[in-house]
Amino acid sequence: MKAHILATVAASALLGACATTPGGEIETMANANTAVANIPQGTGYFASDSTLPFHAPDFSKISEDDYIPAFEQGMAIHKAEIDAIINNPEAPTFSNTIVALEKSGRMLGRVATVFFALTGSNTTDRLDEINTEISPKLTAHSDSITLNPELFARVKAVYDNRAAMAMTREDAKLLEDTYEGMVHAGALLTDAQRARVKEINSELSEITTEFGQEARAAMADQPVIFDTREELAGLSESDIKSAADFATEKGHPGKYAIALQNTTQQPLLPNMTNRAAREKLFMASYHRADGTTDIDTRPLVAKIAALRAEKASLFGEPDWATYAMWDRMAEKPATALGFMERMVPALAATQRREAAMLDEAIKADGGNFEVKPWDWYRYANKVKAARYDLDEDAMTEYFQLDKVLEDGVFYAANKLYGLSFERRTDLPVYHPDVWTYTVFDRDGSELGIFYFDPFQRPSKRGGAWMSNFVDQSKLWNTKPVIYNVLNIPKAPAGEVQLVSFDNVNTMFHEFGHALHGFFANQTYPSLSGTAVARDFVEYPSQVNEVWATYPEVLSNYAKHYRTGEPIPSEMITKIEAAAKFNQGYDFGETVEAALLDMKWAALSKEQAEAINTPAKVTEFERKSLEELGLEIDLVPPRYRSTYFNHIFSGPAGYSAGYYSYLWTEMLDRDSRKWFMENGGLTRANGDHYRETVLSTGGTMDYFEMFRNFAGRDPDVTPMLEARGLVPGDEAADSEVSDGALPADTAG
Ligand SMILES: [Zn+2]
Repeated sequence: MKAHILATVAASALLGACATTPGGEIETMANANTAVANIPQGTGYFASDSTLPFHAPDFSKISEDDYIPAFEQGMAIHKAEIDAIINNPEAPTFSNTIVALEKSGRMLGRVATVFFALTGSNTTDRLDEINTEISPKLTAHSDSITLNPELFARVKAVYDNRAAMAMTREDAKLLEDTYEGMVHAGALLTDAQRARVKEINSELSEITTEFGQEARAAMADQPVIFDTREELAGLSESDIKSAADFATEKGHPGKYAIALQNTTQQPLLPNMTNRAAREKLFMASYHRADGTTDIDTRPLVAKIAALRAEKASLFGEPDWATYAMWDRMAEKPATALGFMERMVPALAATQRREAAMLDEAIKADGGNFEVKPWDWYRYANKVKAARYDLDEDAMTEYFQLDKVLEDGVFYAANKLYGLSFERRTDLPVYHPDVWTYTVFDRDGSELGIFYFDPFQRPSKRGGAWMSNFVDQSKLWNTKPVIYNVLNIPKAPAGEVQLVSFDNVNTMFHEFGHALHGFFANQTYPSLSGTAVARDFVEYPSQVNEVWATYPEVLSNYAKHYRTGEPIPSEMITKIEAAAKFNQGYDFGETVEAALLDMKWAALSKEQAEAINTPAKVTEFERKSLEELGLEIDLVPPRYRSTYFNHIFSGPAGYSAGYYSYLWTEMLDRDSRKWFMENGGLTRANGDHYRETVLSTGGTMDYFEMFRNFAGRDPDVTPMLEARGLVPGDEAADSEVSDGALPADTAG
């Protein structure tokens, strides 16, 4: 289960390249210098910083009616501040242009931070309405700054003079990011080019929205219809009843309808005993929106690829991937492609080995056929159940929410970084289920505030995430105020609150993001803490998951809620062994999707324009997948192009970025290896990681950062080992012995 820090992304994306995120000290532009006489003063709660400790938001003083006026005033003030920068009679300098820009938009940042935190975790109809009303205005506001030619002229003047300026590393990075962000938006283009980019942006916005709607229609409006109950044999009574009700609703009374789910694989397949019905359901999913029915997204795919390639060419880039990856750690498509291609041999071998194992399991089960994708999970699950005998409910009894947090997550942070935590009850919260803590640093000083919002509720969107109410920043003299939001089902009143092992991992994961925010040590808020590249931000959070099952941490928090007995170590051993099972499929389908994304994004304008019929879209996808050398007919990609929402739906999304999930996992697994080779859970290791990675924000090259930490470049081998995908014959043998069928299944 991957979690995201979406709130940060949303707020900063809305505010654009010159975003400042909100924070503390009362120091507005109005008293910063004399050239600001025309800047309006805000009114209401968001006009100034909160007076609570650490400038934590005072939810007791905020009402829903405050948002619209605060957004509008915030934008007006921001605009006036930008005008003041542009109209400054002095020659452009780092201070009067770049830093002034970084300081601008403070009221807007304040309101956006609180508002988007609440629309994510505790929304109301009114907040949703405000969101719909304000979002296009924020986008237009952001564009008006990013694409302002007079502002860019000043930024460029400072940038062009950079060699002659004395700057800190962080100053230099802020200058570079500000300049490149504006260039990336189109500041260096001719008027005609910029006009074409705007056209492309608006066309892309329409077509990708249409893609999303069509892909959704292919799931929601075109369920798979089965004529007889026998075809659904193996499903639960309630699944069958739902299918019957859904068929009636769809105008097929007396039949059964199953709606497709997002991915190529379908969750009901493992339970279906009728093989022909499995094939029918799977093939409907696989051929979704590819013209097999009246829904065909292939023309949209072709258009999106061509428009993106054209846009890249206007910027002088060879392809969309090169354009889109400008601020990523991997930076160049070849780096991301090469990294994934290195996994292919081991992965292909594992796919073949798993298929052979499943062929055996099918035989043992009395079947006389070779495994196909629609059989895969049915037999893989059987082998897995026989081999690992996992009882997740029994495990949950060892994971009590408050103990996991305080004796697990906080305990690990104490051992590694010397942090300590004190629960507080004096801060206003936006929901009674939110807990707050003061975080104390290794020297006993106050480091920041941590909000923990664990429970599912209808007003919260799905998933888990971290963000800041206040960013660490020396510019504003602010310390971090950070929240983690999860979706743990709440126990009935009076019962002990237990959590699943998945949620235990998510708690460690989200707190990994929080540590990245707490240890921020930056001057500028836009480079602070988790303000890092998309293919880097999930790395520290994944690393922190390692402590969830580290023996010393585990034995401190995982105790049976009734008996207090520590968790039996074989439970954890089984979970860890099971995590290596079926990776040829689980991991393979993700790698294939990531490679497919990159193939689409790596087309030149001419290549993309040549894919101009639906048939050519199918052909390109097939050829791209075949080139990989993976077993694509046994293990199809997690998403085919025609329903790959991450890359073709909505604004750029994860286009040329789906690999990020794998990339950060590589960094994570390699870092875990470093920790274990250096003694595991020690203060020395924690301090070193804090110094080299967690405290550096977005201020330096990410490879350099990794080398400072590990003493070498990141290596893909530990990830492959963790996935049970070690290259070479020797490894294949050891996997076979680990993967040997238990006697009762092998027959
Ligand atoms: Zn995350």
